[in-house]
Amino acid sequence: MRQLAYVFDLNKCIGCHTCTMACKQLWTNRDGREYMYWNNVETRPGKGYPKNWEQKGGGFDKEGKLKTNGVIPIRADYGGLWEYNLEEVLLQGKGNQVVPHEKPTWGPNWDEDEGKGEFPNNHYFYLPRICNHCSNPACLAACPTKAIYKRPEDGLVVIDQERCRGYRYCVKACPYGKVYFNLQTQKSEKCIGCYPRVEKGVPPACVAQCVGKIRFVGYRDDKDGPIYKLVEQWKVALPLHAEYGTEPNVFYVPPMNTTPLVFEEDGRLGDKPRIPLADLEGLFGPGVKPALETLGREMAKRRDAKASELTEILIGYTNKDRYRL
Ligand code: SF4
Ligand code: SF4
Ligand code: SF4
Repeated sequence: MRQLAYVFDLNKCIGCHTCTMACKQLWTNRDGREYMYWNNVETRPGKGYPKNWEQKGGGFDKEGKLKTNGVIPIRADYGGLWEYNLEEVLLQGKGNQVVPHEKPTWGPNWDEDEGKGEFPNNHYFYLPRICNHCSNPACLAACPTKAIYKRPEDGLVVIDQERCRGYRYCVKACPYGKVYFNLQTQKSEKCIGCYPRVEKGVPPACVAQCVGKIRFVGYRDDKDGPIYKLVEQWKVALPLHAEYGTEPNVFYVPPMNTTPLVFEEDGRLGDKPRIPLADLEGLFGPGVKPALETLGREMAKRRDAKASELTEILIGYTNKDRYRL
């Protein structure tokens, strides 16, 4: 069985949400899926999408037992579908401002660019999220009808819509909040890893459309590919919340927390990192410090006009460098 995996380099994400729109346009813009963002981009620090998903429970305990404390996010946690006064403004000539009928109070990436800290030392970064197509998926373990399975050819985790009975155990069990319930069909749905594209050797839509070229995709056992090199060889790409026990297959190159450094009170640039290391370790675990040290070392080589295989990989000049399907 092979496993497809992804690396997202957070140093390159510009928060443009093109990935989100690519997925939405292809898979979730109709038929009860309107509220779903199988790919979402959230701002960190922030509450994420669905709201406070890190507190929703689920996943496995330290002994590998499926946790039963998971909750089903309520509809409002995902944010509303807002109705705009388009008809009045554009057809009836009433007013000149297009606004939602009701004032929104929450939505995906609601806390965009808010971040943390006081000016001039505030900071934030973007965290794009898709289903992790875990090697030990909690959603699959929780499903009593065996509707969820891993495809042997690529390890993508999918839900058989014929078998799904809409019990939503998977929604409770996924600690990443990446299974959604379709109220129209009364079935659960999630990112399908764009398997119809992958089968043709075409990268997933969210990967192919990424403006920042932050996304790498390939198989974990492909030793010549960027996934193996970034995850296993250089160890600069880390799973999100590995402690949830699902063995995710989306890996993140953490943001450099020293660019920029903090400004001291007298306005001079100090030597403390802008993003606290603990914040990054809270997301990506103890591997953050060595990963950032490696990244810093290799970037310094480039600044000194020396060769660095790692920075070459991370730049990912062409599609062939970033996608190996
Ligand atoms: Fe299942 Fe959630 Fe893992 Fe995706 S991220 S495979 S939905 S447990
Ligand atoms: Fe959407 Fe495909 Fe990306 Fe999954 S892999 S989030 S289905 S575009
Ligand atoms: Fe970030 Fe790429 Fe998505 Fe833009 S398209 S938000 S750069 S992951």
